[in-house]
Amino acid sequence: MNKLLIVGTVAFDAIETPFGKTDKILGGAATYIGLSASFFNLQSAIVSVVGDDFPQEHLDLLTSKNIDISGIEIVKGGKTFFWSGLYHNDLNSRDTLITELNVLADFQPKVPQNYKDADVVMLGNLHPLVQSSVLDQMEKKPKLVVLDTMNFWMDCALPELLDVIKRVDVITINDEEARQLSGEYSLVKAANKIQEMGPKYVVIKKGEHGALLFHNREVFFAPALPLEDVFDPTGAGDTFAGGFSGFITQSENISFNNMKNAIIYGSNLASFCVEKFGTERMQTVSKAEVAIRLQQFKSLTQFDIEI
Ligand code: AMP
Repeated sequence: MNKLLIVGTVAFDAIETPFGKTDKILGGAATYIGLSASFFNLQSAIVSVVGDDFPQEHLDLLTSKNIDISGIEIVKGGKTFFWSGLYHNDLNSRDTLITELNVLADFQPKVPQNYKDADVVMLGNLHPLVQSSVLDQMEKKPKLVVLDTMNFWMDCALPELLDVIKRVDVITINDEEARQLSGEYSLVKAANKIQEMGPKYVVIKKGEHGALLFHNREVFFAPALPLEDVFDPTGAGDTFAGGFSGFITQSENISFNNMKNAIIYGSNLASFCVEKFGTERMQTVSKAEVAIRLQQFKSLTQFDIEI
């Protein structure tokens, strides 16, 4: 089985949407990526850090999904990364209310020895120096390195972020962040500029409006599935990234055409994530439900046009 190495936050989140509010619940970029990638036939491991305030049951959940957690450091007396966000009425925009780095502030990642030859590395959202350090530890060049980031790191660690961006093959980023990173309003121009920074493939996520994949001058678009109920978009981007990188890991094919499949798989899994608060839906969704929804994606996106 191919190996996927995941790096990112394992966190506590407190979320408020027009439909309700949560106290501190399980969150974090790596958590969502891992849960999403667990739908594929692969081996995966998370590299991250938590404090000893992090409940064992959350770690057990990851283990129950066959995710290797030996790379999750538990800092004695430390506090777990905490993020709090408030969504606006359209659910497409949110304000970050609190970001407490806590144990993440001094984190030195350690890649488990048996993942230093991982086929795919998914650098989830986290400090760009940590993302770079993980790449430094790889003993074999991965077939594909995917990076996800957010405006927080553009604001507080831009030079380090630009350094790691140079080293990756694919970047996944949302539309506003693509504009911020490139200084371009047009997403086509933004994607071109970001390709010049290093990644040959740029995925721009547009929330409920789907995702665009750019490579050279080619573009592919995948819609998001129109859903009856959207409760909480938190983690949708990470779930997308987990589906994308999980599918590529399983299929071992890094062509542009196969990335189109990966985008649909990622969008499909993200459509489940938003149906309940936090990771709740991703914990219970079955492979059968995922397969049924893929059919819906197929009929949504494929038709013969008469020209
Ligand atoms: P998403 O909705 O896909 O952007 O991801 C939300 C997840 O990202 C939450 O579970 C947070 O714990 C995590 N998160 C929020 N801010 C940061 C940050 N600055 N660095 C890393 N992870 C973050």
